Amino acid sequence: MNIQAQCCGIILMLFLLFFYRRKKQVGLFTEQVFQKTLLVTMASVFLDILSIVAITHRSEMKPVLLAFFCKSYIVSLVWVGYLGLIYVLMDLYVEKVYRKVVRQYTVLAGIASVIIFCLPIYYYQNERIVYTYGPSVFTTYVCAMLFVCNTFFHMIRYRKSVNPMRRNAVLLWMSVWIIAAFIQFMDNRLLLVGYACALGIMILFFTLENPDALLDRQIGCFNSYALIEYLNQLYDRQEDFSILWIALSHHRLSETGVLQTNKVNREIFHYLSKQTRAKIFKNVDKELVLIFQDESKLKSALLSLEMRFKSTWKAGENDTVLLNAVFVAMPKGLLARNTEEILKIQRDFKSQEQLTYDKVHWIDDQFVGEERRKEAVKEMIVAAIEHDRVEVFYQPIYSTAKKKFASAEALVRIIDEEGKIVAPGAFIDVAEETGLILQLGEIVFDKTCQFIKRRKLGEIGIEYIEVNLSVLQCEKKELAQIYKKIMDKYKLPPSYINLEITETASIQTKRTLLENMRVLIGQGVTFSLDDFGSGQANLNYIIDMPVEIVKLDLNMTRAYFQNDKAKLVVQATVDMVHEMGLRIVAEGVETEEQLNEMQRIGVDYIQGYYFSKPLPREEFLKFIGNQGK
Ligand code: C2E
Ligand code: CA
Ligand code: CA
Repeated sequence: MNIQAQCCGIILMLFLLFFYRRKKQVGLFTEQVFQKTLLVTMASVFLDILSIVAITHRSEMKPVLLAFFCKSYIVSLVWVGYLGLIYVLMDLYVEKVYRKVVRQYTVLAGIASVIIFCLPIYYYQNERIVYTYGPSVFTTYVCAMLFVCNTFFHMIRYRKSVNPMRRNAVLLWMSVWIIAAFIQFMDNRLLLVGYACALGIMILFFTLENPDALLDRQIGCFNSYALIEYLNQLYDRQEDFSILWIALSHHRLSETGVLQTNKVNREIFHYLSKQTRAKIFKNVDKELVLIFQDESKLKSALLSLEMRFKSTWKAGENDTVLLNAVFVAMPKGLLARNTEEILKIQRDFKSQEQLTYDKVHWIDDQFVGEERRKEAVKEMIVAAIEHDRVEVFYQPIYSTAKKKFASAEALVRIIDEEGKIVAPGAFIDVAEETGLILQLGEIVFDKTCQFIKRRKLGEIGIEYIEVNLSVLQCEKKELAQIYKKIMDKYKLPPSYINLEITETASIQTKRTLLENMRVLIGQGVTFSLDDFGSGQANLNYIIDMPVEIVKLDLNMTRAYFQNDKAKLVVQATVDMVHEMGLRIVAEGVETEEQLNEMQRIGVDYIQGYYFSKPLPREEFLKFIGNQGK
């Protein structure tokens, strides 16, 4: 009997099935489709053999049974064609839509099968030549070709959306199949179609579906690629899940010998697989990532994990180690919108929170909400910079000696898309975290210089404008040069500028800042120390930094009127600042009583709502223009 090629095919596929089933599976949808394809193809080759055997022995067989075997085989070919198509469609739709589309094709293939079963079939056998023909066979060819053509059509039409590896694999699979069918058609002795099916499956397996490609070679868990695929699937299906990241750092205490990291990691993996019913992955940061079906499974796993990590692990023959583990858990995985976001949330969480060993850190709704706010704020700042919606408001500062408004503080504002004014309280933290404050600071400085020059503030009695510098700006070596260039651009005498600095704990920043200050002071710029009294080591800062003005923090001004001790401190500060030859500003003066009291204790400048809130350019000009009237 002419069934050698088919038998080889079956053996090949049995091997494949054996290896495939032996490996752990992530639980991906693609794995399911591949398994189905493998089983249908095997069934098809098996039916091929069966039909040849049946035709050869047709004299001893009931015609109905013979027809059933032969038709089952040709029907299976339609289903192989169908599988090629749904394999390609996998990349084109999200799972829900995909299932719907597949359902339609399944119905079509089903109808085709029924028709094929109903039509007559004829047999031909002459020694090694065995084949079937007739309306049933003809319909099979047409239907199978329709599926194959549809597959090619989708691959060409949507070539950009189909994973190129999948495209090439399916292309090769279908081509092998068609070539085999053609050869078989030309020479009826060469029954190659069954074998070609097996080859096609091998191609799929080695290019796309090899489970080894999803495994971490060192410890045997799933790898970062599998993690991403699996997360994508969870978000696609909107299936709730809980996730745990375990970062391990090595030995807190090792007895002797060299630590065999892999051995320890394998032991941990073994333990985790046994103890938890989670899927275990290793991500690109080499952390273990455990995905649970729900929160209760995560929590019960954590209970035993926390205990287990308190004792030692085997690291060699007679060697044990204790490991430091940092647990980061997110009970509600769907709080994030997609894979990209959940990975970003975890990264940000790690960089923002102080993570300690042997403790579980929770990523909760609040953290995710805050992340979203920051992301939205960041987008707002970027858009504002791009569309020139960064504005500067000016808050007048009253000189008690001159009894007039002699300066002002420049304060940044963003005009949002709807034209609403957004105060810095809503975005300065994000601007600093993202580094956007560098651009914002420069824009504010540029606009302030332009304003002073164009509107001739000097002529209306404004001696200088105070502009805030963020710590990030102070750290930049180029700060002085950039600011100098901006002042040059407007031909603005630098004495119109007073830069407000705040405390920084970093010695390196302080050094760079001092260098920047030296250059700018050389040009004629002056400096203030902002927020005095809000930090811890302010006194040192006044001593070390070449500032001319000290700005009493808003809260200190407030405390003065509420608390006797604060009163003494503020009074002493004013005296001390004067003794050092510096001047002092009281911020946050809101009432006449506060104004009088501040004047009485000798404060040089008053800034606060009592006089005015920060004002947009024109209103500020009007406000200053009105003084003395
Ligand atoms: P700051 O430098 O301490 O600025 C003073 C803040 O106190 C301003 O808030 C001002 O509107 C507010 N203020 C003034 N007088 C009163 C008062 O009598 N009562 C009350 N309750 N508040 C008063 P604003 O404009 O919202 O700015 C907040 C902070 O944002 C600033 O505090 C500063 O740290 C930062 N900021 C503002 N503009 C810039 C900028 O251009 N660059 C940088 N790096 N930071 C800026
Ligand atoms: Ca300030
Ligand atoms: Ca301040």
